[in-house]
Amino acid sequence: MIEKILIANRGEIALRILRACRELGIKTVAVHSEADRELKHVLLADESVCIGPAPSRDSYLHIPAIISAAEVTDTVAIHPGYGFLAENADFAERVEQSGFIFIGPKPETIRLMGDKVSAINAMRQSGVPCVPGSDGPLDDNKKRTLELGREIGYPVIIKSAGGGGGRGMRVVHSEATLLNAMSLTQAEAAAAFGNPMVYMEKYLENPRHIEFQLLADQHGNVIHLGERDCSMQRRHQKVVEEAPAPGVTDAQRNEIGARCVEACRNIGYRGAGTFEFLFEGGGFYFIEMNTRVQVEHPVTEMVTGIDIVKEQILVAASEKLRYRQEDVAMQGHAIECRINAENSETFIPSPGQIREFHAPGGPGIRMETHIYRGYRVPPHYDSMIGKLIAHGGDRSSAISRMCGALRELVIDGIDTNIGLQRHILLDAAFRAGGTNIHYLEKKLGI
Ligand code: ADP
Repeated sequence: MIEKILIANRGEIALRILRACRELGIKTVAVHSEADRELKHVLLADESVCIGPAPSRDSYLHIPAIISAAEVTDTVAIHPGYGFLAENADFAERVEQSGFIFIGPKPETIRLMGDKVSAINAMRQSGVPCVPGSDGPLDDNKKRTLELGREIGYPVIIKSAGGGGGRGMRVVHSEATLLNAMSLTQAEAAAAFGNPMVYMEKYLENPRHIEFQLLADQHGNVIHLGERDCSMQRRHQKVVEEAPAPGVTDAQRNEIGARCVEACRNIGYRGAGTFEFLFEGGGFYFIEMNTRVQVEHPVTEMVTGIDIVKEQILVAASEKLRYRQEDVAMQGHAIECRINAENSETFIPSPGQIREFHAPGGPGIRMETHIYRGYRVPPHYDSMIGKLIAHGGDRSSAISRMCGALRELVIDGIDTNIGLQRHILLDAAFRAGGTNIHYLEKKLGI
Protein backbone atom coordinates (compact mmCIF):
# COMPACT_ATOMS: atom_id res chain seq x y z
CA MET A 1 0.00 0.00 0.00
CA ILE A 2 1.01 3.65 -0.50
CA GLU A 3 2.19 5.13 2.84
CA LYS A 4 2.15 8.82 1.99
CA ILE A 5 0.44 10.99 -0.62
CA LEU A 6 1.28 14.54 -1.63
CA ILE A 7 -1.82 16.49 -2.65
CA ALA A 8 -0.83 18.77 -5.53
CA ASN A 9 -3.92 20.95 -5.39
CA ARG A 10 -5.93 23.31 -3.18
CA GLY A 11 -9.49 24.02 -2.04
CA GLU A 12 -12.31 21.54 -1.79
CA ILE A 13 -10.69 18.82 -3.92
CA ALA A 14 -7.53 18.86 -1.78
CA LEU A 15 -9.71 18.32 1.30
CA ARG A 16 -11.65 15.58 -0.49
CA ILE A 17 -8.38 13.76 -1.30
CA LEU A 18 -7.13 14.22 2.27
CA ARG A 19 -10.31 12.62 3.61
CA ALA A 20 -9.95 9.63 1.29
CA CYS A 21 -6.33 9.21 2.43
CA ARG A 22 -7.33 9.29 6.09
CA GLU A 23 -9.95 6.64 5.49
CA LEU A 24 -7.29 4.45 3.89
CA GLY A 25 -4.76 5.13 6.68
CA ILE A 26 -2.41 7.04 4.33
CA LYS A 27 -0.34 10.00 5.57
CA THR A 28 -0.78 13.30 3.73
CA VAL A 29 1.44 16.15 2.59
CA ALA A 30 -0.28 19.42 1.69
CA VAL A 31 1.58 21.78 -0.61
CA HIS A 32 0.33 25.34 -0.69
CA SER A 33 1.09 28.87 -1.86
CA GLU A 34 1.87 31.76 0.46
CA ALA A 35 -1.77 32.87 0.11
CA ASP A 36 -3.10 29.48 1.22
CA ARG A 37 -1.60 28.89 4.68
CA GLU A 38 -5.08 28.89 6.22
CA LEU A 39 -6.62 26.34 3.85
CA LYS A 40 -8.51 23.69 5.75
CA HIS A 41 -6.62 20.71 4.33
CA VAL A 42 -3.28 22.45 5.04
CA LEU A 43 -4.30 22.69 8.70
CA LEU A 44 -5.41 19.04 8.74
CA ALA A 45 -2.57 17.40 6.79
CA ASP A 46 0.19 15.43 8.52
CA GLU A 47 2.79 17.69 6.89
CA SER A 48 2.66 20.83 4.82
CA VAL A 49 5.14 22.58 2.54
CA CYS A 50 4.90 26.11 1.17
CA ILE A 51 5.85 25.86 -2.51
CA GLY A 52 5.83 29.51 -3.56
CA PRO A 53 4.02 32.82 -3.91
CA ALA A 54 0.31 33.22 -4.57
CA PRO A 55 0.22 33.21 -8.40
CA SER A 56 -0.48 29.64 -9.61
CA ARG A 57 2.43 29.66 -12.06
CA ASP A 58 4.81 30.18 -9.12
CA SER A 59 3.22 27.53 -6.88
CA TYR A 60 0.52 25.05 -7.98
CA LEU A 61 1.89 24.99 -11.54
CA HIS A 62 5.54 25.04 -10.53
CA ILE A 63 6.66 21.48 -11.23
CA PRO A 64 10.18 21.60 -9.67
CA ALA A 65 8.78 23.03 -6.41
CA ILE A 66 6.22 20.23 -6.16
CA ILE A 67 8.78 17.52 -6.93
CA SER A 68 11.15 18.96 -4.30
CA ALA A 69 8.36 18.99 -1.73
CA ALA A 70 7.70 15.32 -2.51
CA GLU A 71 11.40 14.52 -2.11
CA VAL A 72 11.89 16.25 1.24
CA THR A 73 8.78 14.62 2.72
CA ASP A 74 9.46 11.06 1.50
CA THR A 75 6.21 11.05 -0.40
CA VAL A 76 5.25 7.87 -2.25
CA ALA A 77 2.51 9.09 -4.58
CA ILE A 78 1.18 12.41 -5.90
CA HIS A 79 -2.52 13.14 -6.44
CA PRO A 80 -3.04 16.03 -8.87
CA GLY A 81 -6.80 16.59 -8.26
CA TYR A 82 -8.40 18.51 -11.15
CA GLY A 83 -7.24 21.66 -12.96
CA PHE A 84 -3.64 22.89 -12.40
CA LEU A 85 -1.30 20.03 -13.46
CA ALA A 86 -3.87 17.21 -13.52
CA GLU A 87 -3.80 16.80 -17.31
CA ASN A 88 -0.21 17.85 -17.90
CA ALA A 89 1.60 14.85 -19.40
CA ASP A 90 5.02 16.44 -18.73
CA PHE A 91 4.16 16.70 -15.04
CA ALA A 92 3.04 13.06 -14.87
CA GLU A 93 6.28 12.07 -16.59
CA ARG A 94 8.43 14.12 -14.19
CA VAL A 95 6.59 12.58 -11.23
CA GLU A 96 7.33 9.05 -12.48
CA GLN A 97 10.91 9.82 -13.48
CA SER A 98 11.51 11.14 -9.97
CA GLY A 99 10.41 7.80 -8.57
CA PHE A 100 6.90 8.68 -7.37
CA ILE A 101 3.56 7.16 -8.32
CA PHE A 102 1.33 9.50 -10.35
CA ILE A 103 -2.29 8.96 -9.31
CA GLY A 104 -3.73 9.04 -12.79
CA PRO A 105 -3.17 7.48 -16.20
CA LYS A 106 0.19 6.95 -17.88
CA PRO A 107 1.80 10.14 -19.31
CA GLU A 108 1.41 8.81 -22.85
CA THR A 109 -2.33 8.31 -22.31
CA ILE A 110 -2.68 11.90 -21.07
CA ARG A 111 -0.81 13.03 -24.18
CA LEU A 112 -2.96 10.91 -26.52
CA MET A 113 -6.21 12.24 -25.03
CA GLY A 114 -4.89 15.81 -24.77
CA ASP A 115 -4.68 15.96 -28.55
CA LYS A 116 -8.31 15.95 -29.66
CA VAL A 117 -7.54 14.63 -33.13
CA SER A 118 -5.69 11.58 -31.79
CA ALA A 119 -8.34 11.14 -29.07
CA ILE A 120 -11.15 11.06 -31.63
CA ASN A 121 -9.21 8.56 -33.78
CA ALA A 122 -8.70 6.27 -30.79
CA MET A 123 -12.42 6.50 -29.98
CA ARG A 124 -13.54 5.71 -33.52
CA GLN A 125 -11.35 2.61 -33.50
CA SER A 126 -13.19 1.40 -30.39
CA GLY A 127 -16.65 2.10 -31.80
CA VAL A 128 -17.35 5.14 -29.59
CA PRO A 129 -19.76 7.38 -31.56
CA CYS A 130 -18.15 10.71 -32.56
CA VAL A 131 -19.46 13.91 -34.13
CA PRO A 132 -19.45 13.63 -37.96
CA GLY A 133 -16.35 15.49 -39.06
CA SER A 134 -13.10 15.67 -40.94
CA ASP A 135 -11.65 12.47 -39.40
CA GLY A 136 -8.31 14.15 -38.94
CA PRO A 137 -6.64 17.53 -39.23
CA LEU A 138 -7.45 20.03 -41.99
CA ASP A 139 -4.54 20.67 -44.35
CA ASP A 140 -3.66 23.25 -47.02
CA ASN A 141 -5.91 21.60 -49.62
CA LYS A 142 -8.62 24.30 -49.82
CA LYS A 143 -10.70 22.40 -52.35
CA ARG A 144 -10.86 19.39 -50.02
CA THR A 145 -11.74 21.59 -47.02
CA LEU A 146 -14.63 23.16 -48.92
CA GLU A 147 -15.81 19.70 -50.01
CA LEU A 148 -15.68 18.50 -46.42
CA GLY A 149 -17.83 21.44 -45.34
CA ARG A 150 -20.44 20.50 -47.95
CA GLU A 151 -20.36 16.81 -47.02
CA ILE A 152 -20.73 17.48 -43.29
CA GLY A 153 -23.35 20.20 -43.84
CA TYR A 154 -23.50 23.67 -42.27
CA PRO A 155 -23.22 24.85 -39.57
CA VAL A 156 -19.80 23.34 -38.84
CA ILE A 157 -17.30 24.08 -36.08
CA ILE A 158 -13.55 24.47 -36.52
CA LYS A 159 -11.75 23.22 -33.41
CA SER A 160 -8.10 23.16 -32.44
CA ALA A 161 -6.50 19.81 -31.68
CA GLY A 162 -4.71 21.22 -28.66
CA GLY A 163 -7.60 23.37 -27.38
CA GLY A 164 -9.09 23.36 -23.91
CA GLY A 165 -11.31 25.35 -21.58
CA GLY A 166 -13.77 26.18 -24.35
CA ARG A 167 -11.14 28.14 -26.31
CA GLY A 168 -9.86 27.69 -29.85
CA MET A 169 -13.20 27.02 -31.58
CA ARG A 170 -15.17 28.84 -34.25
CA VAL A 171 -18.66 28.13 -35.60
CA VAL A 172 -19.09 28.55 -39.36
CA HIS A 173 -22.57 29.01 -40.86
CA SER A 174 -21.77 29.07 -44.57
CA GLU A 175 -19.14 28.18 -47.11
CA ALA A 176 -18.31 31.85 -47.75
CA THR A 177 -16.55 32.21 -44.39
CA LEU A 178 -15.10 28.69 -44.00
CA LEU A 179 -11.53 29.21 -45.22
CA ASN A 180 -11.15 32.50 -43.39
CA ALA A 181 -12.45 30.93 -40.15
CA MET A 182 -10.04 28.06 -40.58
CA SER A 183 -6.96 30.27 -40.91
CA LEU A 184 -8.07 32.48 -38.00
CA THR A 185 -8.51 29.44 -35.75
CA GLN A 186 -5.14 28.04 -36.86
CA ALA A 187 -3.40 31.31 -36.00
CA GLU A 188 -5.16 31.51 -32.61
CA ALA A 189 -4.38 27.89 -31.82
CA ALA A 190 -0.70 28.35 -32.69
CA ALA A 191 -0.51 31.35 -30.37
CA ALA A 192 -2.57 29.91 -27.49
CA PHE A 193 -1.61 26.20 -27.52
CA GLY A 194 1.62 26.12 -29.55
CA ASN A 195 -0.09 23.82 -32.05
CA PRO A 196 -1.83 25.18 -35.18
CA MET A 197 -3.60 21.89 -35.99
CA VAL A 198 -7.39 22.26 -36.47
CA TYR A 199 -10.19 19.90 -37.50
CA MET A 200 -13.83 20.22 -38.52
CA GLU A 201 -17.01 18.85 -36.94
CA LYS A 202 -20.71 19.19 -37.53
CA TYR A 203 -21.96 21.93 -35.19
CA LEU A 204 -24.78 20.52 -33.09
CA GLU A 205 -27.20 23.34 -32.38
CA ASN A 206 -29.08 22.27 -29.28
CA PRO A 207 -27.19 19.44 -27.58
CA ARG A 208 -27.10 18.36 -23.97
CA HIS A 209 -23.77 17.61 -22.26
CA ILE A 210 -23.72 14.04 -20.97
CA GLU A 211 -20.56 12.35 -19.71
CA PHE A 212 -19.68 8.82 -18.61
CA GLN A 213 -17.52 7.99 -15.58
CA LEU A 214 -14.97 5.20 -16.01
CA LEU A 215 -12.67 3.37 -13.61
CA ALA A 216 -9.80 1.15 -14.72
CA ASP A 217 -7.11 -0.77 -12.83
CA GLN A 218 -3.65 -1.85 -14.00
CA HIS A 219 -4.77 -5.44 -14.60
CA GLY A 220 -7.10 -4.79 -17.53
CA ASN A 221 -10.30 -4.49 -15.48
CA VAL A 222 -12.52 -1.59 -16.53
CA ILE A 223 -16.02 -0.55 -15.41
CA HIS A 224 -18.30 2.39 -16.11
CA LEU A 225 -20.35 4.11 -13.43
CA GLY A 226 -23.05 5.45 -15.71
CA GLU A 227 -23.54 9.02 -16.81
CA ARG A 228 -23.98 12.58 -15.57
CA ASP A 229 -25.90 15.41 -17.19
CA CYS A 230 -23.95 18.69 -17.01
CA SER A 231 -25.96 20.78 -19.46
CA MET A 232 -26.66 23.67 -17.07
CA GLN A 233 -23.69 25.84 -18.07
CA ARG A 234 -22.63 29.44 -18.33
CA ARG A 235 -19.71 30.28 -20.62
CA HIS A 236 -18.85 26.56 -20.91
CA GLN A 237 -18.62 26.36 -17.10
CA LYS A 238 -20.87 23.78 -15.48
CA VAL A 239 -23.21 25.20 -12.83
CA VAL A 240 -25.48 22.26 -11.89
CA GLU A 241 -24.81 18.55 -12.53
CA GLU A 242 -26.89 15.46 -11.98
CA ALA A 243 -26.86 11.68 -12.22
CA PRO A 244 -28.44 9.85 -13.92
CA ALA A 245 -29.21 12.04 -16.96
CA PRO A 246 -32.98 12.58 -17.36
CA GLY A 247 -34.41 10.48 -20.17
CA VAL A 248 -31.37 8.30 -20.83
CA THR A 249 -32.54 4.70 -20.97
CA ASP A 250 -30.85 1.67 -19.43
CA ALA A 251 -30.24 0.37 -22.94
CA GLN A 252 -28.46 3.61 -23.97
CA ARG A 253 -26.42 3.65 -20.75
CA ASN A 254 -25.34 0.05 -21.22
CA GLU A 255 -24.50 0.56 -24.88
CA ILE A 256 -22.45 3.76 -24.53
CA GLY A 257 -20.93 2.62 -21.23
CA ALA A 258 -19.73 -0.60 -22.88
CA ARG A 259 -18.14 1.36 -25.75
CA CYS A 260 -16.27 3.56 -23.27
CA VAL A 261 -15.09 0.47 -21.38
CA GLU A 262 -13.83 -1.01 -24.63
CA ALA A 263 -12.01 2.23 -25.52
CA CYS A 264 -10.30 2.28 -22.08
CA ARG A 265 -9.13 -1.31 -22.59
CA ASN A 266 -7.78 -0.52 -26.04
CA ILE A 267 -5.75 2.48 -24.90
CA GLY A 268 -4.52 0.77 -21.71
CA TYR A 269 -6.25 3.33 -19.52
CA ARG A 270 -5.73 3.31 -15.75
CA GLY A 271 -7.46 5.31 -13.01
CA ALA A 272 -10.59 7.44 -13.19
CA GLY A 273 -11.58 9.08 -16.46
CA THR A 274 -14.54 10.77 -18.08
CA PHE A 275 -15.86 10.53 -21.63
CA GLU A 276 -17.70 13.70 -22.58
CA PHE A 277 -20.49 13.53 -25.15
CA LEU A 278 -22.91 15.90 -26.77
CA PHE A 279 -26.37 14.33 -26.82
CA GLU A 280 -28.84 15.43 -29.48
CA GLY A 281 -31.81 13.77 -31.15
CA GLY A 282 -31.30 10.63 -29.05
CA GLY A 283 -27.68 10.19 -30.27
CA PHE A 284 -24.40 10.43 -28.35
CA TYR A 285 -21.38 12.17 -29.95
CA PHE A 286 -17.98 11.97 -28.22
CA ILE A 287 -16.16 15.30 -27.90
CA GLU A 288 -13.31 14.68 -25.47
CA MET A 289 -11.93 12.61 -22.63
CA ASN A 290 -10.83 14.03 -19.28
CA THR A 291 -8.04 11.98 -17.75
CA ARG A 292 -8.64 12.96 -14.11
CA VAL A 293 -11.24 13.18 -11.37
CA GLN A 294 -13.97 15.72 -12.20
CA VAL A 295 -15.50 18.43 -10.04
CA GLU A 296 -18.88 16.71 -10.39
CA HIS A 297 -17.74 13.19 -9.39
CA PRO A 298 -19.86 13.23 -6.17
CA VAL A 299 -23.19 12.84 -7.99
CA THR A 300 -21.94 9.54 -9.39
CA GLU A 301 -20.66 8.52 -5.96
CA MET A 302 -24.06 9.22 -4.41
CA VAL A 303 -26.00 7.09 -6.89
CA THR A 304 -23.51 4.22 -7.15
CA GLY A 305 -22.16 4.19 -3.58
CA ILE A 306 -18.62 3.93 -5.01
CA ASP A 307 -15.92 6.28 -3.68
CA ILE A 308 -14.13 7.39 -6.86
CA VAL A 309 -11.18 9.09 -5.12
CA LYS A 310 -10.51 6.03 -2.96
CA GLU A 311 -10.64 3.79 -6.04
CA GLN A 312 -8.18 6.12 -7.83
CA ILE A 313 -5.72 5.67 -4.98
CA LEU A 314 -6.22 1.91 -4.72
CA VAL A 315 -5.70 1.27 -8.43
CA ALA A 316 -2.61 3.53 -8.38
CA ALA A 317 -1.31 1.16 -5.67
CA SER A 318 -1.74 -1.69 -8.22
CA GLU A 319 -4.79 -3.12 -6.48
CA LYS A 320 -7.51 -4.74 -8.55
CA LEU A 321 -10.83 -2.94 -8.93
CA ARG A 322 -13.13 -4.10 -6.16
CA TYR A 323 -16.24 -3.93 -8.34
CA ARG A 324 -17.33 -5.76 -11.45
CA GLN A 325 -19.73 -4.16 -13.92
CA GLU A 326 -22.60 -6.23 -12.54
CA ASP A 327 -21.95 -4.81 -9.05
CA VAL A 328 -22.68 -1.27 -10.28
CA ALA A 329 -26.26 -0.08 -9.87
CA MET A 330 -27.69 3.41 -9.88
CA GLN A 331 -29.77 4.11 -6.78
CA GLY A 332 -32.04 7.14 -6.96
CA HIS A 333 -30.93 10.53 -8.21
CA ALA A 334 -28.27 13.05 -7.19
CA ILE A 335 -27.82 16.75 -8.00
CA GLU A 336 -24.83 19.00 -7.39
CA CYS A 337 -24.86 22.81 -7.21
CA ARG A 338 -21.50 24.52 -7.50
CA ILE A 339 -21.15 27.27 -4.92
CA ASN A 340 -19.03 30.15 -6.20
CA ALA A 341 -17.69 33.28 -4.52
CA GLU A 342 -19.24 35.57 -7.09
CA ASN A 343 -22.20 37.88 -7.43
CA SER A 344 -25.43 36.06 -8.38
CA GLU A 345 -26.32 38.66 -11.01
CA THR A 346 -23.08 40.18 -12.26
CA PHE A 347 -20.88 37.06 -11.83
CA ILE A 348 -18.07 39.29 -10.60
CA PRO A 349 -15.76 37.27 -8.28
CA SER A 350 -16.07 38.15 -4.63
CA PRO A 351 -13.01 37.22 -2.58
CA GLY A 352 -12.87 38.20 1.09
CA GLN A 353 -13.47 37.02 4.61
CA ILE A 354 -16.30 34.66 5.47
CA ARG A 355 -18.04 36.11 8.53
CA GLU A 356 -20.66 33.44 8.99
CA PHE A 357 -20.98 29.91 7.65
CA HIS A 358 -23.66 27.32 8.28
CA ALA A 359 -23.58 24.13 6.24
CA PRO A 360 -26.92 22.45 5.55
CA GLY A 361 -27.63 18.89 6.67
CA GLY A 362 -30.27 16.20 6.86
CA PRO A 363 -30.89 13.01 4.89
CA GLY A 364 -29.16 12.81 1.53
CA ILE A 365 -27.25 16.09 1.89
CA ARG A 366 -23.49 16.33 1.36
CA MET A 367 -21.43 19.50 1.44
CA GLU A 368 -17.92 19.48 -0.02
CA THR A 369 -16.15 22.67 0.97
CA HIS A 370 -12.93 23.94 2.51
CA ILE A 371 -14.44 27.17 3.84
CA TYR A 372 -15.08 27.91 7.51
CA ARG A 373 -16.04 30.94 9.55
CA GLY A 374 -13.20 33.48 9.44
CA TYR A 375 -11.61 31.91 6.34
CA ARG A 376 -10.45 34.43 3.79
CA VAL A 377 -11.18 33.51 0.15
CA PRO A 378 -8.04 34.63 -1.72
CA PRO A 379 -8.44 36.55 -4.99
CA HIS A 380 -5.86 34.49 -6.90
CA TYR A 381 -7.75 31.33 -7.78
CA ASP A 382 -10.96 29.89 -9.20
CA SER A 383 -14.09 31.28 -7.54
CA MET A 384 -15.62 27.88 -6.71
CA ILE A 385 -15.65 27.53 -2.92
CA GLY A 386 -17.75 24.44 -2.52
CA LYS A 387 -20.29 21.99 -3.84
CA LEU A 388 -23.64 21.11 -2.39
CA ILE A 389 -24.94 17.65 -3.27
CA ALA A 390 -28.44 16.25 -2.68
CA HIS A 391 -29.39 12.62 -3.13
CA GLY A 392 -32.96 11.31 -3.15
CA GLY A 393 -34.96 8.22 -4.11
CA ASP A 394 -35.92 9.93 -7.36
CA ARG A 395 -35.24 13.19 -9.19
CA SER A 396 -38.06 15.15 -7.60
CA SER A 397 -37.05 14.21 -4.07
CA ALA A 398 -33.42 15.13 -4.86
CA ILE A 399 -34.70 18.53 -6.08
CA SER A 400 -36.79 19.03 -2.92
CA ARG A 401 -33.83 18.17 -0.72
CA MET A 402 -31.57 20.52 -2.68
CA CYS A 403 -34.09 23.37 -2.33
CA GLY A 404 -34.23 22.83 1.44
CA ALA A 405 -30.43 22.67 1.66
CA LEU A 406 -29.97 25.86 -0.38
CA ARG A 407 -32.34 27.65 2.01
CA GLU A 408 -30.34 26.39 5.00
CA LEU A 409 -26.92 27.26 3.58
CA VAL A 410 -25.55 30.53 4.99
CA ILE A 411 -22.33 32.13 3.71
CA ASP A 412 -21.98 35.74 4.85
CA GLY A 413 -19.25 38.31 4.26
CA ILE A 414 -18.79 37.65 0.53
CA ASP A 415 -21.17 37.43 -2.43
CA THR A 416 -22.13 33.94 -3.58
CA ASN A 417 -24.22 32.41 -6.35
CA ILE A 418 -26.61 30.71 -3.89
CA GLY A 419 -29.41 32.99 -5.15
CA LEU A 420 -28.82 31.88 -8.75
CA GLN A 421 -28.83 28.22 -7.69
CA ARG A 422 -32.19 28.66 -5.91
CA HIS A 423 -33.54 30.26 -9.05
CA ILE A 424 -32.38 27.35 -11.24
CA LEU A 425 -33.80 24.74 -8.87
CA LEU A 426 -37.22 26.44 -9.06
CA ASP A 427 -37.15 26.77 -12.84
CA ALA A 428 -39.95 24.87 -14.58
CA ALA A 429 -37.81 23.64 -17.48
CA PHE A 430 -35.06 22.43 -15.14
CA ARG A 431 -37.70 20.66 -13.07
CA ALA A 432 -39.03 18.96 -16.18
CA GLY A 433 -35.45 17.79 -16.97
CA GLY A 434 -33.44 17.58 -20.17
CA THR A 435 -32.61 21.26 -20.85
CA ASN A 436 -29.79 21.85 -23.36
CA ILE A 437 -26.42 23.58 -22.94
CA HIS A 438 -27.76 26.98 -24.08
CA TYR A 439 -30.70 27.02 -21.69
CA LEU A 440 -29.10 28.85 -18.75
CA GLU A 441 -27.54 31.61 -20.85
CA LYS A 442 -30.88 32.18 -22.62
CA LYS A 443 -32.69 32.29 -19.29
CA LEU A 444 -30.15 34.81 -17.99
CA GLY A 445 -30.56 36.83 -21.19
CA ILE A 446 -26.91 36.62 -22.26
P1 ADP B 1 -12.78 22.12 -24.36
O1 ADP B 1 -11.70 21.11 -24.21
O2 ADP B 1 -12.26 23.46 -24.75
O3 ADP B 1 -13.73 22.15 -23.22
P2 ADP B 1 -14.75 20.62 -25.94
O4 ADP B 1 -14.42 19.84 -27.15
O5 ADP B 1 -15.05 19.86 -24.71
O6 ADP B 1 -13.59 21.69 -25.69
O7 ADP B 1 -15.95 21.59 -26.26
C1 ADP B 1 -16.36 22.57 -25.35
C2 ADP B 1 -17.79 22.98 -25.63
O8 ADP B 1 -17.92 23.52 -26.95
C3 ADP B 1 -18.79 21.84 -25.58
O9 ADP B 1 -19.21 21.55 -24.27
C4 ADP B 1 -19.91 22.42 -26.44
O10 ADP B 1 -20.64 23.36 -25.70
C5 ADP B 1 -19.16 23.15 -27.53
N1 ADP B 1 -18.92 22.27 -28.68
C6 ADP B 1 -17.79 21.57 -28.96
N2 ADP B 1 -17.94 20.84 -30.10
C7 ADP B 1 -19.19 21.08 -30.54
C8 ADP B 1 -19.98 20.62 -31.66
N3 ADP B 1 -19.47 19.77 -32.57
N4 ADP B 1 -21.24 21.08 -31.77
C9 ADP B 1 -21.76 21.95 -30.88
N5 ADP B 1 -21.08 22.42 -29.82
C10 ADP B 1 -19.82 22.00 -29.63
